[in-house]
Amino acid sequence: MSEGIVGRRRPLPLHTKIFLGLVGGAVSGISVNVFLGRRPEVEWIVRTVTEPIGQIFLRMLIMVVVPLVFTSLALGVAGLGDLRKLGRIGVKTLLYFVLVTALAVTIGLILVNVIRPGEGLSEQVKVQLLETYRGQTAETLEQAGRTRFGIQTFVNIVPRNPIAAAVQGDMLGIIFFALMFGVALTFLPASRAQPVMAVLSGIGEAMVVLIDLAMKLAPIGVAALIFSVTARFGFDLLAKLGVYVFTVILGLAIHQFGAYSILVRVFARLNPWQFFSAIRTVMVTAFSTSSSNATLPTTIRVSQENLGIPGEIAGFVLPLGATMNMNGTALFEGVTVLFLAQVFGVELSFSAQLIVIVMSVLTAIGAAGVPGGSLPLLILVLQTVGVPGEGIAIILGVDRLLDMCRTTLNVTGDVTAAAFIARSEGYALMPRPSVVEMERTEAGGERRW
Ligand code: ASP
Repeated sequence: MSEGIVGRRRPLPLHTKIFLGLVGGAVSGISVNVFLGRRPEVEWIVRTVTEPIGQIFLRMLIMVVVPLVFTSLALGVAGLGDLRKLGRIGVKTLLYFVLVTALAVTIGLILVNVIRPGEGLSEQVKVQLLETYRGQTAETLEQAGRTRFGIQTFVNIVPRNPIAAAVQGDMLGIIFFALMFGVALTFLPASRAQPVMAVLSGIGEAMVVLIDLAMKLAPIGVAALIFSVTARFGFDLLAKLGVYVFTVILGLAIHQFGAYSILVRVFARLNPWQFFSAIRTVMVTAFSTSSSNATLPTTIRVSQENLGIPGEIAGFVLPLGATMNMNGTALFEGVTVLFLAQVFGVELSFSAQLIVIVMSVLTAIGAAGVPGGSLPLLILVLQTVGVPGEGIAIILGVDRLLDMCRTTLNVTGDVTAAAFIARSEGYALMPRPSVVEMERTEAGGERRW
């Protein structure tokens, strides 16, 4: 009898399993942290068990990124077919990125001006944090020193060698080459372009199979990643920097659930609730990996499967977004610069704050979609307005938590952009994950996002 019942039970959908992994990893990591503290055994388990498992999951996602970005962008552009349409979509996409990112920083700056988290930080805590994170800060400062942000940044978008760009994970270089390759395909006669496109879509489909495989590991991978972070996290710091952390998270939440709800309702004509429910796997993956790049394969897949965004739009907007559209990062940068200015007693006038907005938008476009990718650029913004770059030592201890949250916003923002572009180009969207899931499960299909 029990067999019959078990036999009929529907397997848990993947997103539920991932969510359970997230909660399980967090609860066990926090318990270990609270009850055992930073014992060597805990460090041993993290270093030899959970971190490697998390890394394998991350690497399985990341290994798909370069071929997936190349095939989906080249096919996306070739699929659009006409250069005028490409230009129109390109301009709309970039405008959307810049305006929504500026909106995010503005929300952050309003909050940090009202809450003024920097004024409550005691001198003793400040000195202690500067001392504790001195080593880590020196590394980030060195990275910042190597980061050139200026006209050369734009020149570097055009790779000298696309293979070298792929090897170095230079996303903007890969994106540029893929775009140009797609454009070139549209100039070829159909008889020559078709076989190339067939090969590209074959490669793209094989990547999707790989993502499916990687996502099967997600519940364990996510649990391992979250365990590693929470078991080592300085929760004592959270209390000391509580008001600053609260300000960043409040800003991210306002943008995530307020601004995006309005944007998807107005521009994509989607019900926000259905939208968030359709992309929950994307949000959980972004939260646990802290990387827009590692989340990109899932973002592309879910946007097509659960929202009905056509492949050529998803393939064009989402890889660009993972690299250039970082709303959460920009908001975090804005709040952090003002917070540190308050801590160091640097008065930032209205025009200096406008510079913070512009610099946060620009550096968020330039930041890499990897964990902590924005930190070297954050130092550049700090230095531009006269706040000491060494100051980031104060926030380094809580950065991973904030990174998880801002990456979730970054990636959600990419999907809102793709939904807006698809709708503005006259495509109908279909936010019905439960129906998709049900049909798949009933048909005995494997994929459930
Ligand atoms: N981790 C972020 C991302 O991948 C970048 C950052 O803000 O550090 O989107």
